[in-house]
Amino acid sequence: MRVVVNLDRCEGNAFCVNIAPEVFELSYDEYAVVITDPVPVEQETLVEQAIAACPRAALSRED
Ligand code: SF4
Repeated sequence: MRVVVNLDRCEGNAFCVNIAPEVFELSYDEYAVVITDPVPVEQETLVEQAIAACPRAALSRED
C-alpha cells in the first residue's frame, strides 16, 4: 500500500507521527511527510490507525 498526505488539510498536529513514527515525520514547516513509500507490510496496520486518527482527514490510502 501507499499513503498520501493532503497538504491542504494537514495541520501538523503529529497524530500520525506518534502512531506510526517509522512511516511519518513532520517536515521543517510542520506538515506530515511519508518517509517509507510504499508502506512496509508490517506497518500497514499502524498506518490504517493513523488514517483513522487524523482529525483533518488528511491521509488517504492508495493500493
Ligand atoms: S495526523 Fe493528519 S493533520 Fe496531523 S500531522 Fe498527520 S496528516 Fe497532518
